[in-house]
Amino acid sequence: MMGWLRDLLQTGATDAAQAGAPPASRPPPSHPPSARALPGETLAKQLALVIDLNVCVGCHACVTSCKEWNTSGAAGPLADQDAYGPHPTGTFFNRVQTYEAGIFPGTDTIHFPKSCLHCEDPPCVPVCPTGASYKRKADGIVLVDYDKCIGCKYCAWACPYGARELDEERQVMTKCTLCVDRIHDEQLPVADRKPACVKACPTGARLFGDVKDPASEVSIAIRERGGYALMPEWETRPANQYLPRRITAASDEGPA
Ligand code: SF4
Ligand code: SF4
Repeated sequence: MMGWLRDLLQTGATDAAQAGAPPASRPPPSHPPSARALPGETLAKQLALVIDLNVCVGCHACVTSCKEWNTSGAAGPLADQDAYGPHPTGTFFNRVQTYEAGIFPGTDTIHFPKSCLHCEDPPCVPVCPTGASYKRKADGIVLVDYDKCIGCKYCAWACPYGARELDEERQVMTKCTLCVDRIHDEQLPVADRKPACVKACPTGARLFGDVKDPASEVSIAIRERGGYALMPEWETRPANQYLPRRITAASDEGPA
């Protein structure tokens, strides 16, 4: 990882001039423990995605925009293997899984986008033997320091959501960063300081903001539209939440 990005990630710096400056002009990387949340610590700010399953159409625009932004930026490249062969695979921070629910002919197609949920009490962090996995105190984003990761996969085993992806070429663990190198970049117009997936979604299914701010768009959506967390029984307190599919007259009637 570039030194200047590592510095940005670990200190929580939000100075855009620093973020866009060449490495030589940046201060040496520092890793103050105070920049990391303690296990179980409740933070004042927690950035997250809220995903509306009612309007996601499974187009994968969020998947490709995520891959493009992150593979061409400082968090990348996100390697692919056998991309045009019979067994293509690769590293993706965000995937959309599609399911058929119900009994034919009254089935329903559900598109389910999934990435790291930036848990408030992330089990992937304390299992990391090198301190590569950590949660930012400033905004609750869970990150991996590639320079410290040894690819042991403990975090992948600990994550109950299957959100971690080992980059086969670099042999480091990767995951969604909530586009941390973009959302704090003050050189971008305010409207662009959102994760790439949020910007790309054609149906507005992906909301982004601070779930600890009761007046934020995400908090209002969770409160008013029945937002829910995945598998709360694991007590990871996922920051990302989902808005349920809503029964409409058309969906209630089922297929013609
Ligand atoms: Fe860690 Fe998984 Fe939670 Fe992300 S979803 S913070 S990888 S436990
Ligand atoms: Fe830590 Fe990397 Fe091992 Fe995950 S794979 S536990 S980030 S050293």
